[in-house]
Amino acid sequence: MRDIRVIGDPVLRTPAEPVTDFDRELRRLIDEMFQAMYAVNGVGLAGPQIGVSRRLFVYDIAGRKGHLVNPVLTVDDEEEVLDEEGCLSVPDRQSRQPIYAPVARAAGVTVEGLDRLQQPVRVKARGSLARCFQHETDHLDGKLYVDRLPKNEARKIMLRT
Ligand SMILES: [Zn+2]
Repeated sequence: MRDIRVIGDPVLRTPAEPVTDFDRELRRLIDEMFQAMYAVNGVGLAGPQIGVSRRLFVYDIAGRKGHLVNPVLTVDDEEEVLDEEGCLSVPDRQSRQPIYAPVARAAGVTVEGLDRLQQPVRVKARGSLARCFQHETDHLDGKLYVDRLPKNEARKIMLRT
């Protein structure tokens, strides 16, 4: 089982590289990402979170499950929605559970990328799925949700990690 990297690990702050090989190893990696995500009741997991600095993520949220390789995110609806968001890579030092905070995200997005067989995938999303896509795409750019919080709110969270 792959360990989930937590804040402070440089891999989480490194922009990930595109996936170039659509081989058996990639398919195994995607399976391992689902396993690692389900083991901790997560709803999304990006490559860097298991120490793999590659542009891919898996998700299973609000009845929608899938994976995206080399995703490109487009905002369809810029209206900002404020909702609770947490991250497996930002756990509380004591409880080891994700720390949640309200984060503003665009209401609607489309993600385009490839699947494990290098076939094109396009998913339009609103609500929690749109939030998840924005959160996971941030991971691929070396960003964490705390970066999107007011400085004092981010500082409070950092003190708990
Ligand atoms: Zn996360």
